Amino acid sequence: MKLRAKWTRPLALHNQGQLSLFFIGCGSAFARSHYQNNLLIIEGDDHVMVDCGTRAPLALSELGLGVTTVRNWLITHSHADHIGGLEEVMLMNRYGGGPGKPTIAIAAEYQRLLWGRSLRGGCELNETSEGLRFEDFWNIRRPRRIRGLPRNAALVRFGNIELLLFRTRHFPEHAAGWSDSFYSVGMIVNQRILFTGDTQFDPDLLHIFQELYDIETIFHDVQFRTGGVHASFEDLVALPQATREKMVLMHYPDTWMSHRERAEQAGMRFARQHCFYDFS
Ligand SMILES: [Zn+2]
Ligand SMILES: [Zn+2]
Repeated sequence: MKLRAKWTRPLALHNQGQLSLFFIGCGSAFARSHYQNNLLIIEGDDHVMVDCGTRAPLALSELGLGVTTVRNWLITHSHADHIGGLEEVMLMNRYGGGPGKPTIAIAAEYQRLLWGRSLRGGCELNETSEGLRFEDFWNIRRPRRIRGLPRNAALVRFGNIELLLFRTRHFPEHAAGWSDSFYSVGMIVNQRILFTGDTQFDPDLLHIFQELYDIETIFHDVQFRTGGVHASFEDLVALPQATREKMVLMHYPDTWMSHRERAEQAGMRFARQHCFYDFS
């Protein structure tokens, strides 16, 4: 993995063929020093954006991109730091002179939740009183369930970018496990990068996917208190060294600097916003 800080405005959604991850933000839901934890994945001519929080449209415009420039989307779960900007994406593509329906990778189960509980109120009734449907705004790409893999794993591709989605245990806090939790997913990118999305501390998740795949880097959410719905820093620094050394912490609050030294001593780094993580 190589970190590349240089980018030109507007940010190009293509590259020379390497797998590249670019955080448009790496902060927590309520962070002010960073945008929210939303991610662009680029390889060759292919791209997909993972999540679209309340501040994502602003974060994109800082990179010289409009919300309609991004053509492929994946949403991990329904907290506002991951979906709060989606209504703008949908309305701008339909009514704002966008190039037509963008594509979303979404399981049928989550489509019902995302539309019925979150997006429908602002999008359903516009030019027609009969009501629009989710499919009127999106080209839908269904992840394909892979039998024999844990966590309801399902595979979806955007050209050269392969995402293996798996369910996580994020909220409510006291859910017994991932299957009792509200829908949320993390993913493995091109069989080599583990991106947890939002999850409580879940060593079993880290163990099973490191057994199944040759994972080089783990992007993991972090919070600096115990309890709650994210993995705590104290739990993560107690993981085995080999796991810690692969770990890049993301989704962190504004107080992250006071934990930097201890994280580095443990072999972990904090993600950097507006940098390319290149995997050749
Ligand atoms: Zn979040
Ligand atoms: Zn969340």
